[in-house]
Amino acid sequence: MLYIVSFVLAQHFLALFMQTFFHHRYSAHKMFTMSKFWEKFFYLCSWIFQGASYLSPYTYGKMHRMHHVYADTEKDVHSPKHDKSLWKMMIKTKDIYTAIHEGEFEMEERFLGELPSWKSFDDFAHGWVSRLLWAVVYASFYYVFATEWWMWLFLPINLMMSPIHGAIINWFAHKIGYRNHKVEDTSTNIFPIEIIMMGEGLHNNHHKMGTRANFAQKWFEFDPSYMVILILHGFRIIRLKK
Ligand SMILES: [Zn+2]
Ligand SMILES: [Zn+2]
Repeated sequence: MLYIVSFVLAQHFLALFMQTFFHHRYSAHKMFTMSKFWEKFFYLCSWIFQGASYLSPYTYGKMHRMHHVYADTEKDVHSPKHDKSLWKMMIKTKDIYTAIHEGEFEMEERFLGELPSWKSFDDFAHGWVSRLLWAVVYASFYYVFATEWWMWLFLPINLMMSPIHGAIINWFAHKIGYRNHKVEDTSTNIFPIEIIMMGEGLHNNHHKMGTRANFAQKWFEFDPSYMVILILHGFRIIRLKK
C-alpha cells in the first residue's frame, strides 16, 4: 500500500509542478524566460511526469490565455458559472483543448505570441503510442506492488492526473474559498489546499495579478512552486522578469 500511495503522491506533485511551472507560469503567462535548451529539458520533464495525461505546453498556453480574458463569460473555456456540472466542464474543456491542439479552433491573434514550441516531440508525447506506453508502465508498477485487488482502484488517478488537476482548480477555485481581490470573475483562493496544489489554489490572487510569479500575497498563504522558481532563478536556469 505504501508503494502505491507514494507513487500516486509523487506523480501528483511532479505532474502538477510541471503544469504550474512550465505550462501555466511560463507558456501562458511568460513570468520568466529560459533558453531553448532548458525549454526542451522541461518539455521532456513534462512528458516524464505527466506521462499518460501529458498536456501540450503550446496548446495549454493558448487555451489558458483565453480563460483569463474571458473568465466566467460565455466565451470562457471552463467556468462553473456556465458549465452545469464538474463533469460537463471537464468534457467541454477537453473538447476545446483538442480542437485547439488540432488547429480546428479559431484563435484570436493576441493569444498566439511567444509560446514554447517543440512540435516533433510534442506530437509524439501527445500521441496514443506514448499514452499507451505510460499506461503499461503504470500497470506494471501496480502489478508488482499492489498486494490487494482494490489497490488497482488508484490506477485511474495516475492515468487522469492532469485533467484531475485542471478540474480541481477550474471548478473549486471558481466556486469555494475566499477572495483577497474584487475581480470581475468568480475566482477564489482555496486555503490551505493551495499548498498541496503547488500554489495553484491561490487563484483569486493570480486572476488579479496574472504576471506575478509568486501567487501568495497574505502572510498565511504559501506558494511552494514559487520557492522552486526562486531556486531555478538562483541557478540561472530561468530568469524571472522584473
Ligand atoms: Zn480561473
Ligand atoms: Zn493563469
